[in-house]
Amino acid sequence: DGDDSRRYAPVDTVCPSCSVGCGLRYSDRTGGAVGREGAPVNPEGRLCPKGIEAFDGLDENRLTTPLVREDGELVPASWEEALGRVERELGGLVDAHGPDSLAFLGAPRCTNEENYLFGKLARMLGTNNVDNRARICHRSAVTATTRRFGCGAMTNTLEDISEADAFLVVGSNPAAQQPIAFDSYVRPAVNDGATLVHVDPRANRTTRAADVHLAARPGTDALLVNLLVAELLELDAVDREFVEARTTGFEAFVDSFEAFDADAGAERTGVDREKIRRVARAIGDADGTAVIVGTGAEAPDHRGTETVDALLNLLLLTGNVGRRGAGMNVLRGLNNEQGANDVGARPTTLPGFDPVDDSEARERVAAEWGADPPTDPGLSELEAVRAFGDDVRGAYVLGENPAVTRMETQFVARKFETLDFLVVQDIAPSETVEHADVVLPGSAWAEKGGTVTNLDRQVQRMRAAASPPDSARRDIDVVRELGQRLTGTTFAAETPEGVFKELTRVNPLYAGMSYAGLESGSQRWPFPEGATEGVGVLHRDRFMNGEKRAPLLPIRETDDAEGGETDVGDSPSGLVVLTRTRLNEGRSGPDDGDAPELLVHPDDAAARGIRDDGRVVLDGAERVDAVASLSAEVREGTVFLDAEWADRLLAGRESRTVDVRTADPNSDSDPKSTSTSTS
Ligand code: SF4
Repeated sequence: DGDDSRRYAPVDTVCPSCSVGCGLRYSDRTGGAVGREGAPVNPEGRLCPKGIEAFDGLDENRLTTPLVREDGELVPASWEEALGRVERELGGLVDAHGPDSLAFLGAPRCTNEENYLFGKLARMLGTNNVDNRARICHRSAVTATTRRFGCGAMTNTLEDISEADAFLVVGSNPAAQQPIAFDSYVRPAVNDGATLVHVDPRANRTTRAADVHLAARPGTDALLVNLLVAELLELDAVDREFVEARTTGFEAFVDSFEAFDADAGAERTGVDREKIRRVARAIGDADGTAVIVGTGAEAPDHRGTETVDALLNLLLLTGNVGRRGAGMNVLRGLNNEQGANDVGARPTTLPGFDPVDDSEARERVAAEWGADPPTDPGLSELEAVRAFGDDVRGAYVLGENPAVTRMETQFVARKFETLDFLVVQDIAPSETVEHADVVLPGSAWAEKGGTVTNLDRQVQRMRAAASPPDSARRDIDVVRELGQRLTGTTFAAETPEGVFKELTRVNPLYAGMSYAGLESGSQRWPFPEGATEGVGVLHRDRFMNGEKRAPLLPIRETDDAEGGETDVGDSPSGLVVLTRTRLNEGRSGPDDGDAPELLVHPDDAAARGIRDDGRVVLDGAERVDAVASLSAEVREGTVFLDAEWADRLLAGRESRTVDVRTADPNSDSDPKSTSTSTS
């Protein structure tokens, strides 16, 4: 059952491996993916290693038959038996405890059509308890940007940000994580003289392309951006015309910086003040500055919302909103993170980001569904998991592994055990599947048709290159059938195109799109009915919330007073664990039995008797044994570990600081040397 047994059709489809959305197809010649020249994103048709390997391993370890739990064991079952059980159990919970006793956890890897039907199913049953992982990963950026601009999506396009004169990249390593976007749209601009500033505690692939590296201490990104803003105010590098026409609160904003102690702040960040001034001058001199942020700046324990708020202030102050070569550009990770949110797989908004209590949006949806959606916002995924076994008694998980992909791994795993009923639809066994009462084998990306929406709001067609193996089914067909059974209606059209048509009727941002229009290219939202093309730069004359002006938010005292090493928690002897993502995803994971690599600064290593390639032990929520790799590119006091391992290490902990010690028996260091200060 290896890869060789499978044949794929060479259809034009979209890379599933990140949010950039490069076009690709299967090639018999290479036995793998090749890029599509002329594709909407990256028309040169290049692929990064993750894209080239997109078809690899799709047949490995698949779930190919439905499973139901009998006497504590998951045993093979017919589709009729499995779907019948889901219908009875979920329906029974609605009857006994009301619709809010269910939670629907959708997937940023699934198509727009699948996520749309998933949200529709939850709402037709009477609950807004539907969410997807993208909301967790990008909560800070989306929350902060929506609050100010009425929309959390990337304000600009990959193409137009290449016109920026300065790039401020914060908490993101796009050269490794979104390599084609970086190499096609950012690097050429930098080669042409644009200034690239990289804010990250560790030097990495992006830093190597940067003009300035600001290695701020973990937890001080917001403070660092406020220091930049203070310098911009001092330089009077303010776009007064823009501030006058498009912002509110300028006076109060300036006043809030009066007591701001820049010297003390710079010291807390660990970044030389002269270097900060240099960056402020570059931004002040630039015709356009584009901000690029990733999850590193956003993670809640890194004071993410404050960081994004500070960056939005910087952009508004310098007039870098609503124009080409500028803007707030959130680099989403998974391929359809944007789309899952666009189509309403979230507890607070209907398709098109209208709040669940918006009467116009509710009417639009009700006319299509023949049922009123519930008015009260639902539970977010984290809230729902916390309520498992209590208010929430049953859950439907689609294409996700929430038992390990959230920060509080052990807690979440325990909560899954408290559910009355869990149905998991996925392609491979997982930790979440282990807790399931019914398992429904679904389709991998290459086995489904539909649309996905990339990071700069381009909707593209994904086309099936093969059928799901054995008795596995297409995800959309499974959701449709459960929708029919649970709602007693026809629920949805037979084809992804029919579902997309319905989506364009309920989501005004997609209103003018069609499969015909997507046949050979992409369509970008907002794409109103009758339009011939979508809108590239958002917020040009008005913000998406209809307002002409957005507020400049005064800095709070805490931005300064607490802006120090807040992330360094309860142990002065430990090191701060940060996560990293590598270019090639073929790395080891916690289930592979290989020890992960731990990047550690040579001085921190020496203080602990840790040698390059030596064994180390990290004592966190779980013990992790790793192999040390000494690197002067890592900021002292921090270590870097792959995300999967860091999740396990930090599960349920407030602090990211953990004790790190050598496990090398030949080490000449006293193990107690772990109590060395990290300063
Ligand atoms: Fe795929 Fe992203 Fe690489 Fe493009 S940059 S080939 S979308 S993984």
